[in-house]
Amino acid sequence: MTGVPTGRVVFVGAGPGAADLITLRGARRLAQADVVLHDALTDPALREFAPQARWIHVGKRGFCDSTGQATINALLVKHARENALVVRLKGGDPSVFGRLEEELEALAAAGIAAEVVPGVTAALAAAADTQRPLTRRGSGRSVALSTAMTREGALQAGRTADTEVFYMAGRQLGGLARRLLAAGWAADTPASVVSRAGWPDVLHSQHRVADLAAAGLLHAGRPAVVTVGAGALPVFPQRHGIDVPQGLPDPVETRAA
Ligand code: SAH
Repeated sequence: MTGVPTGRVVFVGAGPGAADLITLRGARRLAQADVVLHDALTDPALREFAPQARWIHVGKRGFCDSTGQATINALLVKHARENALVVRLKGGDPSVFGRLEEELEALAAAGIAAEVVPGVTAALAAAADTQRPLTRRGSGRSVALSTAMTREGALQAGRTADTEVFYMAGRQLGGLARRLLAAGWAADTPASVVSRAGWPDVLHSQHRVADLAAAGLLHAGRPAVVTVGAGALPVFPQRHGIDVPQGLPDPVETRAA
């Protein structure tokens, strides 16, 4: 070691669960890594892609953990200065609720090069597992990925797209339902809850906005996304015993009314 900063950091999206949902590029970067700094949500089987690397767990749960984030930023800089290639492995996609901006800023401030390799975000894995396309010709023209929690830990939900996917709402489904109704979603709007999407033990339940709270027990303690609107409808509603509302109202029209 010369102490000269030669390293770079590659942010790799691990996907939402099972190790084989990582991209080929992500796996290739892992195979070259000296150090892997990883989150809590990623599959331990991913280690097989980088047996040569030193694996360091930096995962944190919760939302307002600024000390934890500062520590992670410092660790990234430290290891990039001591190694040729550091992989920062994040659950899902690094650009979706992954605090990527803070880590990119820390590296830029230290003059360290960065690259981002995308991953499968939880909303996409949930759509795939349940065979509920997020966009639908004619009725689902827009998709929003939203966090149900504000930075201060307050619950928030709006109506900005034909399909809205809420992250970080699992613990407060009753509160989410109330906010969705207040934001103008009809009580019988379809809502689909998927926990541990992308894992072999994925669970799915189908609801209407008004009875979302009923999903709480089934998905308790598991990471979950809540899909509301056009993208929550089954493709074959008859098979699921669901009577489909005749065309979901357009969100913009509803707000203007
Ligand atoms: N970067 C991640 C999101 C991190 S925020 C991504 O792109 O998926 C953490 C939230 O993501 C959880 O609270 C949950 O809402 C969602 N999540 C993560 N993994 C999940 C999974 N396997 N199934 C369902 N939701 C998941």
